[in-house]
Amino acid sequence: MGTQTCVTNSIILRSSPLGRIWRAFSPPTSINFRYEVIRTDPACPHLQHLLPPPPLPPLGTPTMKLRSQFAFFAIFLPLTTLFNFAVPGITNFSVTQTVHAEEIFIEAESFEDRGGWKLDTQFIEQMGSPYLIAHGLGQPVVDAQTSFQSTENGQYRVWARTIDWVARWGATPSPGKFNIEIDGKPLDATFGTQSKDWAWQDGGIIDLEPGQHRIALKDLTGFDGRCDCLYLTTNIRATPPAVDDVLSPWRRSQLGLPETPVEKGPYDLVVVGGGYSGMGAALSAARMGCKVALIQDRGVLGGNGSSEVRVWAMGNIRRGKFPRIGEIIEEFCDHAKKSPGTYEEFGDDTKELIVLAEKNIDLMLNHFAYAVDATDVVTHPNPAIDQVAKPTRHVNGVRLLNTMTGEDLKVVGDLFVDATGHGWIGAWAGADLDITDKGRMGMSNMWAWDEAEQTQSFPETPWALDLNMADFPYPRDHHGQWFWESGFDKDPLGGAEAIRDWNLRAVYGAFNAMKNRDGSEDHKNAMLTWVAYIGGPRESNRLMGDVVLNQDDVIAKRDFPDGCVPSTWSIDLHYPKEQYAQKFADNPFISHAVHDRRVDRMYGYPVPYRCFYSRNVDNLFMAGRCISVTHEALGTVRVMKTCGMMGEVVGKAASICEKHDCQPRDVYEAHLDELLDLLRLPGKARRVTVDSEITIPEDAMKEAGPLGPMPGIDPAKLPGTVLDDHRAQLQGKWNKQTGLAGYVGYLYRYASPNKLATATFETQLPNAQKYCLMIYNRPHPNRGNTVPVTVKVGGSTLAKLKINQRDEGADGPINAGTFELPSDQPITVVISTESAGGNVHLDAISWEPVND
Ligand SMILES: Cc1cc2nc3c(=O)[nH]c(=O)nc-3n(C[C@H](O)[C@H](O)[C@H](O)COP(=O)(O)OP(=O)(O)OC[C@H]3O[C@@H](n4cnc5c(N)ncnc54)[C@H](O)[C@@H]3O)c2cc1C
Repeated sequence: MGTQTCVTNSIILRSSPLGRIWRAFSPPTSINFRYEVIRTDPACPHLQHLLPPPPLPPLGTPTMKLRSQFAFFAIFLPLTTLFNFAVPGITNFSVTQTVHAEEIFIEAESFEDRGGWKLDTQFIEQMGSPYLIAHGLGQPVVDAQTSFQSTENGQYRVWARTIDWVARWGATPSPGKFNIEIDGKPLDATFGTQSKDWAWQDGGIIDLEPGQHRIALKDLTGFDGRCDCLYLTTNIRATPPAVDDVLSPWRRSQLGLPETPVEKGPYDLVVVGGGYSGMGAALSAARMGCKVALIQDRGVLGGNGSSEVRVWAMGNIRRGKFPRIGEIIEEFCDHAKKSPGTYEEFGDDTKELIVLAEKNIDLMLNHFAYAVDATDVVTHPNPAIDQVAKPTRHVNGVRLLNTMTGEDLKVVGDLFVDATGHGWIGAWAGADLDITDKGRMGMSNMWAWDEAEQTQSFPETPWALDLNMADFPYPRDHHGQWFWESGFDKDPLGGAEAIRDWNLRAVYGAFNAMKNRDGSEDHKNAMLTWVAYIGGPRESNRLMGDVVLNQDDVIAKRDFPDGCVPSTWSIDLHYPKEQYAQKFADNPFISHAVHDRRVDRMYGYPVPYRCFYSRNVDNLFMAGRCISVTHEALGTVRVMKTCGMMGEVVGKAASICEKHDCQPRDVYEAHLDELLDLLRLPGKARRVTVDSEITIPEDAMKEAGPLGPMPGIDPAKLPGTVLDDHRAQLQGKWNKQTGLAGYVGYLYRYASPNKLATATFETQLPNAQKYCLMIYNRPHPNRGNTVPVTVKVGGSTLAKLKINQRDEGADGPINAGTFELPSDQPITVVISTESAGGNVHLDAISWEPVND
């Protein structure tokens, strides 16, 4: 019996010289084969994994064929060639024939019909690939299916790359079980049961005839079974290699991908990440004449503000130093009534249509950026950091994996925006970055439940977190909100899948308590309606710019010449909630928020432009939660509308870079006035190229003032002499509020009846005549029904009244009485909390002339 030489077509296809060939040998007298790899190219360690373990069974088939779905080659190597590549110690062989094996490689994401399985692209960086997940909330999902061709008659071993997703915690039994069916026949193996890491699971041997076949993933549980890819081979002794790297050489060879990626571009600006920040950057730059690529790894835009994650967008826009910033965000932001809201409220389609309407944007959904091509360059020194020139980095291109087809792309451009949230582009390019080691804010998977007409069952979840009703906050109003959060001390990048999975175990464990444990009596009809399988991250890499904004800057209102984006959210940081942290002290899953409310919510704190570009990657901008701030300052800037406004500024700055052929730092150093001028333009302003005239379309928004668009009724549109609450002299504690709709102006106030507080309105009226005193009020059960109101003329009391703020004022202001008043003396109205009978509401008053 002779030596077998096996050559994979795909390896040959992309290899020259022969150093990447692998071969099999056997002793001439033995019926057993011994396989060895001969490898001269250390870049191909993956080939070693193709080695089947000795011994092989007696030779029944003299020839094995190795093939991929895409091509098939057989190579015969002369003995002399083999010697050239032989490894030491292998001397006993001779070449007698060529051996081939048929290989069929199928990416799960490329299935013709995914059935109820969902595409998960969140963890490509950690486990190497997009995968399908059977996220059925406890109900097995519809099969995913596809067809494939085989050319060889005979035995094939079937492999599936999968994971037992609770095994990392030693939990049992495996929740994510599935079968594989080929031509209607299930394999014996149950998948998703063996490994705590992503690994190949052996599905056994089947017989296949040449021709077309159908393969299906059959979910058995509805609890998040996972399949990355399938591999069928006639080389039944071969174990496929580990493929944890993105587009690993083996996977690449199986897919028949060329060595070099398809190049796209060049673009003026390449934006990676299609959340609020990326969308803001892309739209703003495109309207200012830049040619833009917008790259997003999932199928929808919006990031955490999409229907997949369902976080409602917060942060006040259109205010502060540059009230035009935020007009672009206004076009696409959600108006959800709660968080998580409904699918429809997040308007994925609207977001996409707004982007597609821009001819200057190439939208690349379902493309995951997995690497950058970056080089060292020497630029001029930055006196803020260095006295001498230091090498900085320059991004030339971003490498992309098409998450549907596996295609490898490279997008090249002049300027790049890292809007990935995680700061991936910066990290890969060698940008200076920071990450809070422990005690970060975590990741959430929000959820929703409802009550059906009939009793609903829910499977027991022994593999989930072991929870009873007291172990978690009751999911009031049928939703599991933002505080279902974990991963505070875990690795938010390398450990992201484990954090997401811990969240899933918490949600299922809680719902199990509601359905099958001490909550069961009260939740007979309860059913899970939605659990986000896409995690909502909050904090990971922050890329360092020329300014690293900190908490003191924000609180002290430190004025930067390039301050622009108004940050209006409080400094809102999250910590594990003690009450629920006992049972799983190592990994709490419920948080609470601590707010530093000293941030000006109306005008906002103007975040400087210098936080939006990297200090050592010369052509890299960033927008969103990976900007240049400390952990504490992230607490205020991280809300989505604020992130989106950063994108708007970055897009305009990019157009200046293109116009003057300069880099982001130069915009601050040499063209700041030009940037500030662009920031004064309406969001809908546009120019064809960066050198063209700017035009302002008719549907441009009306500019809001420094306090933003007035959310309430405009006092100028009300009859009489109107005095809004900001015109009152306040004594005691009055809280600002906007929660009760229909108020006048920017807000209303209220004061508690337990503390004496007064509000005094004083004015002089235009004419001496009769006036009605109208008091604007939003009634509420906690308001007083005997609120004292005093009317004075020239300091003398004219009337003492009581008004009912609990029940009156819903359909118009309360008419408090008619008075004959002079025009030459001050008229005063005092509203007080004394014996008010409840909270006192303070919105506006007006003196309406009465014409008899
Ligand atoms: C549960 C929860 C509640 C929150 N509550 C609020 C709230 O009430 N209001 C509020 O405004 N904010 C809230 N936040 C914070 C807010 O959601 C984030 O800070 C914000 O989304 C950050 O915006 P971003 O654009 O930087 O990132 P993201 O919204 O995360 O967007 C980044 C996008 O980039 C994509 N991406 C990442 N890596 C790659 C890659 N390599 N290639 C291609 N694409 C990539 C991602 O898929 C994503 O779509 C909350 C966050 C969470 C998790």
